[in-house]
Amino acid sequence: MPFAKRLDNVETSAIRELFKLLGKPGIISLAGGFPDSAMFDVTGLSQASQRALQEEPGGALQYGATEGFEPLRTQLAQFMAGKGIDVRPDGLVVTTGSQQALDLLGKTLIDPGDKVIVEGPTFLATIQCFRLYGADLVSAPVDEHGVMVDVLEQQIIEHKPKFIYLIPTFGNPSGATLSRERRIKVLELAARHQVLVVEDDPYGDLYFGEPPPPSLMALSQQVPASREWLVYCGSMSKVLSPGLRVGWMVAPPALLQKAVMCKQFSDAHTSTFAQATAAQYLKAGRMPATLDHVRTVYAERARAMGQALARELGDAVAFTQPRGGLFFWARLTGAGGKVKDAGEFAKRAIEQGVAFVPGAPFFAKDPDHSTFRLSFATADVQKIEEAIARLGRAV
Ligand code: PMP
Repeated sequence: MPFAKRLDNVETSAIRELFKLLGKPGIISLAGGFPDSAMFDVTGLSQASQRALQEEPGGALQYGATEGFEPLRTQLAQFMAGKGIDVRPDGLVVTTGSQQALDLLGKTLIDPGDKVIVEGPTFLATIQCFRLYGADLVSAPVDEHGVMVDVLEQQIIEHKPKFIYLIPTFGNPSGATLSRERRIKVLELAARHQVLVVEDDPYGDLYFGEPPPPSLMALSQQVPASREWLVYCGSMSKVLSPGLRVGWMVAPPALLQKAVMCKQFSDAHTSTFAQATAAQYLKAGRMPATLDHVRTVYAERARAMGQALARELGDAVAFTQPRGGLFFWARLTGAGGKVKDAGEFAKRAIEQGVAFVPGAPFFAKDPDHSTFRLSFATADVQKIEEAIARLGRAV
């Protein structure tokens, strides 16, 4: 096939290969990044979709504006206000999942060879998407408090990146949350070096105890010169439903305008039916109860996984107990001569009947082969305990 050269920049992911093994009977999967289907608010969504059809059939079933369905943009602006972000409905574009926002950023900002700074580790699909547009990715190290801002500043000076992509809250896969202090530093860096910072925030609402620090965009009130350098990507996927494919992006007006133009050529607009349903759902005020429910269930699973890991794997792994999101990020210590390579560990784990994802593919540069990601979202507490006991045998 006469494929475009840009396809040479990406490979099918190692994770995809692993997913092929998941069909094996009896396997407990801790591999996916999915929310639990059992937690979808089916009643609320079916009421919302019915109201969408009855009250606004023209809007819900007809072609719509590329920027998004007006009632949803209004609801989303209110939702953002609840998170301390001041944005008008016309300051955001509705996207087909936040994944499309990442693609639009790639399309509008990246020329082949451009440097883009991402966290190491970061979301695999972001790495692939930005590489497809020819980005030369620079990997900024992350510790339990998020991206290391001193290194980040050095990298900004050295590489003059087109933009910086961060998942500051309950990162995928790191689980890490950028501290408030570092958030302010990131905002100062954006303003001082006049560099765009993209904040991808699909997990910020999934906290288990104390809420995380406010988003970069909310905190930008403290560093006003940074606001014009900030982009925020939100998503309904992890809390409400990924199948709905409703996300959104807040960006400076000039960037928003170009992104809308590119979206027009791509999918014309996000499904109006999905948008009208999401708008009705938010308008009905069901979100707070849904959030309470998912937070409670995931918190219980995260607690069970942390306890089981400590009990079954002991000093063979090091991890930080996540305070939100869907993932544990762990490292094999090699203590007592035990397995140190997460790829090898994953193979042994499959033999024992449990799947997870090794960490290496999540690094754009210098992979750490001792790391791996476990999702606590889709298995219930009993399955999680069984899965970790199997991991104990595999290690
Ligand atoms: N960003 C991050 C960090 C994610 O983990 C995901 C989903 N796994 C996405 C974006 C894309 O989510 P969606 O397109 O469903 O909104």
